[in-house]
Order: sequence, then structure tokens, then C-alpha cells
Amino acid sequence: MSTDTSAETTIFKRRESEARSYCRGFDTVFTSAQGSEMTDARGRRYIDFLAGCSSLNYGHNDPDMKSALIDHIGSDGIAHGLDLHTETKAAFLEAFETHILKPRGMAHKVMFTGPTGANAVEAAMKLARKVTGRTNIVAFTNGFHGVTLGALAATGNSYHRGGAGMTLNGVTRMPFDGYMGDGVDTADLLEKMLGDRSSGMDAPAAIMFETVQGEGGLNAARPEWVRRVAKLARDHGALLIIDDIQAGCGRTGSFFSFEEMGVTPDIVTMAKSVSGFGLPMALMLVRPEHDVFGPAEHNGTFRGNTHAFVTARVAIEKFWSDRAFQDRLAAKALVLTTALGELAQMVPGAVLKGRGLMQGVDVGSGELAAEICARAFEKGLIIETSGPEDQVVKVLAPLTTPDETFRKGLNILLDVARDVTTQAKIAAE
Ligand SMILES: *Cc1c(COP(=O)(O)O)cnc(C)c1O
Repeated sequence: MSTDTSAETTIFKRRESEARSYCRGFDTVFTSAQGSEMTDARGRRYIDFLAGCSSLNYGHNDPDMKSALIDHIGSDGIAHGLDLHTETKAAFLEAFETHILKPRGMAHKVMFTGPTGANAVEAAMKLARKVTGRTNIVAFTNGFHGVTLGALAATGNSYHRGGAGMTLNGVTRMPFDGYMGDGVDTADLLEKMLGDRSSGMDAPAAIMFETVQGEGGLNAARPEWVRRVAKLARDHGALLIIDDIQAGCGRTGSFFSFEEMGVTPDIVTMAKSVSGFGLPMALMLVRPEHDVFGPAEHNGTFRGNTHAFVTARVAIEKFWSDRAFQDRLAAKALVLTTALGELAQMVPGAVLKGRGLMQGVDVGSGELAAEICARAFEKGLIIETSGPEDQVVKVLAPLTTPDETFRKGLNILLDVARDVTTQAKIAAE
């Protein structure tokens, strides 16, 4: 390999499609990663506050997941098994039932979909339509649910929608909590629309949202709003789908993002960190009475990524078999809120966004947010933006980040924000 590791001059520029994206903001070639740090070909180390967009909630190469996977491969364990019964799948389901579903009083069935989040969302939307015999699905402003056509119809972002090249149907868009500002409870509007036979909204098969909008700018729904929307769904014969693909697996401070909100969704979609190791794996949780797909009616060759079952089981047993891990998340979230509060102080009009370990700062402009992230990268911190104008600097550190590393990363972020805002002030004077 050449020693020039600028991606601009390598095979990536020459041969990889222009559709590549995250790599453009981090112009280097990565070689290895451990815990919350990544290393590039020049031997530079970076603190990772992107964490595979919340696919690496337990960090890179967790030693227990890694050794379980190596043992599995070393003993000729099944690698690919369609959806055959395997010991590995049984062990994952047992762990998930014991440590996640039962303690939360959830009777849900687990359906393995194709291994991407978008596929889980497709399955959820199809199932809701099959269960209710209705077509329409209510989704919300700034929601992100994936980019395959069904899921894309529910996604708000016009750039992503534009990639469809065809009409996106079957979804009614409603304003998410807070979309109309503080004075308006958007659940009122939803209630009115659902209740008025002349509102023009077809009776929905489902109402679907993220409790914290990961890509849409870290808008966090209030628990009261979530409860009201859940009740509206029930009252109007629609299923409640919570897309917990990004906000789940501990990201907001509890395993599911909706815990302690007093709602039990009919369907929950999960992907990203569910394998624990960054391996492709997605699933949906379905209330038993709605588990009505026939065999292979929603199909997929890779519904059983057995390697992901191995690491997913370890993730559940290691982090969620008691409260210790979850209790530590609350303390970490507080550190994050404090640091981001300092950052927000530096930028006039800046607003804190999000919840738990899914927080960021809306700095008001995409350029400023991009500048902060670019300078952070120069100083060894990988961090990305979110929101309709990419104006939210978003921290998605692994939940397992050691306190010292977390501090160090946050200090880099604060230092660069200080530099950027001071320069802007001088320039303005
Ligand atoms: C990432 C994401 C998806 C799509 O998952 P993919 O694996 O990229 O298809 C869907 N919903 C939410 C909330 C997401 O964050």
C-alpha cells in the first residue's frame, strides 16, 4: 500500500462511488480500533464520538464479544444459516427474553428481518398494513427511517427523498413534538386530524416515530407527547411503531428509548447496536397478536447472521443482565450535558438537543457545525453533525467510553468550539 493515506489520492477516489459519505469528512485510512479509539495508517489515534452512528454502543472490538466470536468460528460454528434453528440463535433469544423482554413485561415476539435498519422498518410498515388492512402510515417531520422505498416514504429529509426517483406513497406527514415551537402541542393537531372525517387523512395502519430523532437533529419527544400519540394510535385502531434503531440499545440511558414513558409499542424496530459488535443485524419486536406474517412472507437471505447472534448474546449478558451498566449511563449523560452546556454558551442562540448519551448542540448553522467537526478531527476527535441543515454537533460516543477518554474528547470539542467562535468574533469586529 502507498504511504500517502489521503483518501483524495487513493483507490477510494479512483474507484469508490461518489455515494460514499462519512469518509469525506475524515480524510484518512483507518487500520484498527479498540474501545473508543481508532487508529489510522499514519499511526494517529482518534477518539471516536461517532461510534458507527450508534452501531458501536459498546465500543470497538469488545474483548468478550471478540473472543466469543473467535471461539465460534474456530470451532466451525454455523456462519450462515438462513433462518434455520441454531444453538447460537437459541442462545441469543434466551438471553434477550431473560434480560430484556421479561423484566420489562414485554410479551413481544422477535422477528429477524434482513440485516439493515431499513429492512426492519419495511417489515414493520408492511406488517402494520397487513394487520389493519389499511395503507396510510403517519410519520413525522425530520423522522429518519432508512432509504429503501417504503422506509424512505416515512423519512422526512428531502435530499434522501430526492434519491428515490419516484413518488413515495402511503405516508402522511405530521409535525413532530416541538416542530411548531413551544406554544403548540402538535399532538393536538394529530388528534384533530384523526378525529375529523373530513381532514383528508386516511385512517392510519400505524403511527411511527423515533423518541429522539437521530438524523433529524436530536429532537427529543416529551414523554407526555409520546403517551398522547400512543393513546391516539390505540383509539384510532392504528399500531404504534417506535423506531428504536438509533435511540435503542442504551443510547438514551435505558435499553429501549421509551422505557419509563409508560407506553408499550405494538412494534419496535432495532438494528445498529443490536449485534453489539458492529455486525449487520436487525430485528423487530411484535406483540404476539400482531405476529401475522406467514412463513417467509417477509423474507431475506441474511435473516440469520449467526456471527451477529454470538456477539449480540454476549452484549446482552455482559451489559444488561443487571442494572450496573445502566446506572453508570446516567452519570455519563450528566457529564455530557454539562460539557455541551459550556459549548452552547460560546455560540449565541445555540440550543442543547437530545437525551441521555444522544445529545448535541444546535449551533445555528451547518457551516459552523462542519467547521467545529473538521477542526475536531484535526485534533484527534471523530464527530459528526445531524439535523436538516446539518447544524447540530452530535455526540454519539460509545456508552462504554472510559471517563478519562470521554473527558478528553469533550475537551477537544470545547477547545475547537472556543477557537472557532473566538475567530468568528474577531472577524466580526
Ligand atoms: C440508521 C437508521 C435507520 C436505517 O438503518 P440502516 O441500517 O441504515 O438501513 C432507520 N431508522 C433509524 C432511526 C436510524 O437511525
